Amino acid sequence: MAGPDTRAAIIDGKAFAAGLVERVAAASARLEATHGLKPGLAVVIVGEDPASQIYVRNKGETTARAGMRSDTHRLADTISQAELLALVGTLNADAGIHGILVQLPLPAQIDSSAVLGAIDPDKDVDGFHVVNAGRLAVGLPGLVPCTPLGSTMLLKHQLGDLSGLNAVIVGRSNIVGKPMAQLLLAENCTVTIAHSRSRDLPALCRAADILVAAVGRPEMIRGDWIKPGATVIDVGINRVPSADPVKAAEGRTRVVGDVAFAEAVTVAGAITPVPGGVGPMTIACLLANTYNAACRAAGIEPERLDA
Ligand code: NDP
Repeated sequence: MAGPDTRAAIIDGKAFAAGLVERVAAASARLEATHGLKPGLAVVIVGEDPASQIYVRNKGETTARAGMRSDTHRLADTISQAELLALVGTLNADAGIHGILVQLPLPAQIDSSAVLGAIDPDKDVDGFHVVNAGRLAVGLPGLVPCTPLGSTMLLKHQLGDLSGLNAVIVGRSNIVGKPMAQLLLAENCTVTIAHSRSRDLPALCRAADILVAAVGRPEMIRGDWIKPGATVIDVGINRVPSADPVKAAEGRTRVVGDVAFAEAVTVAGAITPVPGGVGPMTIACLLANTYNAACRAAGIEPERLDA
């Protein structure tokens, strides 16, 4: 347990993600050697949003590094919904593409849920399709959203069996909070989901053996909200002004999580840093999902990747 003279173990998501990408690359190479099947991921990006451009470039580079086919479709932000749906239809029908990811946000003239709903659920490597949300809810195999999947892998790596642990998830979005709750329930945790209407959030958090923060509010969760020895997964990615006033005046920024790390690290038993914790796991799990989707499409049992 951490205390004034001790510090929490730092959960190195960057290193774990690098290992996962290597395992996916090795499994994909064996799949190609034994079955002539190369997993393929298509990423669709609409418009010029700089953050999305960076994410998409990283995804493309990591996919290619893992020895997979990587197609990026860059579309003007004037594209119509019908044109985008037609592209999704073409990718659904392409036997060489096993994963389709449409980068969000989409421009205002496009109904995001209609586009995400048009993706073949068996190629939905983001795991956002209602069919995959339903499969997760009832415990059927399917494609699971990458960020909560990666967070669960880090927890199992850190703690082993999660059975019976009290897990508190702060945040109830469809892409992080809710699927995280389903995954931890499947690991036999006792799960509480907190949100903006929850009463006495600090007290709820203090009951957690596992605390997952997915709020989008910089350093909201303080050290004294954390049970001594708890394992803290900080999903938040928030850009705030640099801590150095001179740099801040120049408009320089830094990235912080939803947890006040400097405080939490003296109380928690283990914690993910931001950056370098959950973030790198998201792309690694996208590749794992693409590999699994390729295997399932061909009726081949995928290798286990969560070593
Ligand atoms: P959303 O904005 O969709 O959801 C935020 C959730 O936090 C909501 O459920 C909201 O409650 C809750 N919330 C907001 N304010 C409070 C509060 N004061 N007290 C308690 N709960 C509150 O965010 P996402 O789930 O998409 O993302 C969460 C964070 O994770 C963001 O920082 C995002 O950048 C990051 N993220 C990181 C990823 C990664 O790769 N590491 C991937 C995806 C997200 P309510 O429902 O009541 O409004």
